[in-house]
Amino acid sequence: METKPANNFLRSIISDELKSGKATEVVTRFPPEPNGYLHIGHASSICLNFGLAEHFGGRCHLRFDDTNPEKESQEYIDAIQAEIKWLGFDWYGEVRFASSYFQQFYDWAIALIERGDAYVCDLSAQQAREYRGTLTEAGQNSPYRERSVEENIDLLGRMKAGEFDEGEKVLRAKLDMASPNMNMRDPILYRIRKARHHQTGDDWVIYPTYDFAHGQEDAIEGITHSICTLEFEGHRPLYNWFLEHLPVPSQPRQFEFRQLNLSYTIVSKRKLKQLVDEGVVCGWDDPRMPTISGMRRRGYSPGALRYFCEMAGVSRTEGVVDVAMLEHAIRDDLNENAPRAMCVLNPLKVILTNYPEDKLEELSAPAHPTREELGTRAVPFSREVYIDAADFREEANKKFKRLVIGKRVRLRNAYVIEADEAIKDTQGNIVAVHARIIENTLGTNPEDGVKPKGVIQWVSGAGGKRAKVKLYDRLFNDEAPDQGDKNFLDYINPDSLDIIEEAWIEPSLIDAAPEQIFQFEREGYFVADRYEHSGDTPVFNKTIGLRDTWSK
Ligand code: ATP
Ligand code: MG
Repeated sequence: METKPANNFLRSIISDELKSGKATEVVTRFPPEPNGYLHIGHASSICLNFGLAEHFGGRCHLRFDDTNPEKESQEYIDAIQAEIKWLGFDWYGEVRFASSYFQQFYDWAIALIERGDAYVCDLSAQQAREYRGTLTEAGQNSPYRERSVEENIDLLGRMKAGEFDEGEKVLRAKLDMASPNMNMRDPILYRIRKARHHQTGDDWVIYPTYDFAHGQEDAIEGITHSICTLEFEGHRPLYNWFLEHLPVPSQPRQFEFRQLNLSYTIVSKRKLKQLVDEGVVCGWDDPRMPTISGMRRRGYSPGALRYFCEMAGVSRTEGVVDVAMLEHAIRDDLNENAPRAMCVLNPLKVILTNYPEDKLEELSAPAHPTREELGTRAVPFSREVYIDAADFREEANKKFKRLVIGKRVRLRNAYVIEADEAIKDTQGNIVAVHARIIENTLGTNPEDGVKPKGVIQWVSGAGGKRAKVKLYDRLFNDEAPDQGDKNFLDYINPDSLDIIEEAWIEPSLIDAAPEQIFQFEREGYFVADRYEHSGDTPVFNKTIGLRDTWSK
């Protein structure tokens, strides 16, 4: 699927800047914190940052914002890189880490202290909150604010040497405790964290805050346009303050856009991690998760995701994107690209009594209804075939356009058949159907003029194979599962996963490679599972149905 760059306000701003000379190049970055797997919101940020760089012939860096060692891990670092590549993007140069600038940040902290712009503060978190004031009330200066430069340098050195416990001391900027912008009320620059860091090991026990790190990381890397979500708008004056007051090598500028929110979906790593930790789903890449790895396993293509991100757009106004828009993008892509095949989810045996027992016909069917270049597939036909139990009734009214005793239906890509009798077990359950083929009906209607009522999918008993199929649906049954005071765990859709142990698949599906995707005719789109699918036990995940069954 082609992703035509729709216009977005950042593209317009940058375009104007390049024309006026305010900007001479475009260097962006995607700065994930490696504390979880990426989700659909991150996909939108990736498309935006890499997309802008691509559009303007610039560069986009991948930088791990790894300043919180307790929550971060190598597992996440590896997964994030794989996900970005899978989405179809590549970063400029090597993978970067905020942690590789720790010494530089420390030197700059000393520079701030020397200029009287930072101090070590001993207030507890609770006390600091009280001193901070409120939106309507100015804060109060910390009693430690007037420490001498020498004392501050000595204390910061001892913090770094591990002499104090976590929470005992922090380094703060000396700005303005009466500022109407709470972010400017002597923000914290460094805190003590006695945790081993995945990149720097035990080298550091003090770690810079996002505020003190982010702009300087951007400046070190020569980022021109630092794009973040709207909640950082209030941090922009602080971002700029550091860049003005430190001898940084370049002057990046921050731009904000509205974060992507999707209906029926959670976009918060913390909450997604909770779903994983509490076993609500089978892992970060559970096909129901809105993570990039989950959506991949579900059968979403990178092109469809990029297309969706373009459609969802970039703006500064609050709003929630309808998840139906994402599903629409997925369906469009699959309708165009997924080869067709037949799978019977709930098999009922049909014995074609007028068809010879030892006969096996090799019928053929197009892989795609409109794309001839995708070729054909062999579909064996034999005396015993399976149809879906839901496609047969002993009696039915005219609305039921499937197989009924005494009536005709076409087996997709094969013969028209007519049902004679339902075979039952001692409890009265239908275990098979006796039917007949109508001769000379391959590709044409019956000569006697009695047309079939409809077309149903089927799989030959000979050549077909048993498969496991996992039917997925939306994970939440509420439009806004984590809005306000709601606990998202109360809105898990109990029908989000249904496992069918014994479906029947046609031969063309038996050798499907993991991640290969098909339309199972009349059922929806299905993907061979990335991990569980093997020759012996085919496992397919339902990507999405043919139609939206959620719309009101
Ligand atoms: P979460 O709250 O899920 O942890 P985060 O913003 O803390 O998200 P980061 O790893 O810090 O996660 O994010 C990396 C980048 O992705 C940031 O630039 C952030 O602005 C962007 N991002 C995160 N969530 C979204 C979203 N829902 N829509 C658009 N961009 C997002
Ligand atoms: Mg974050």
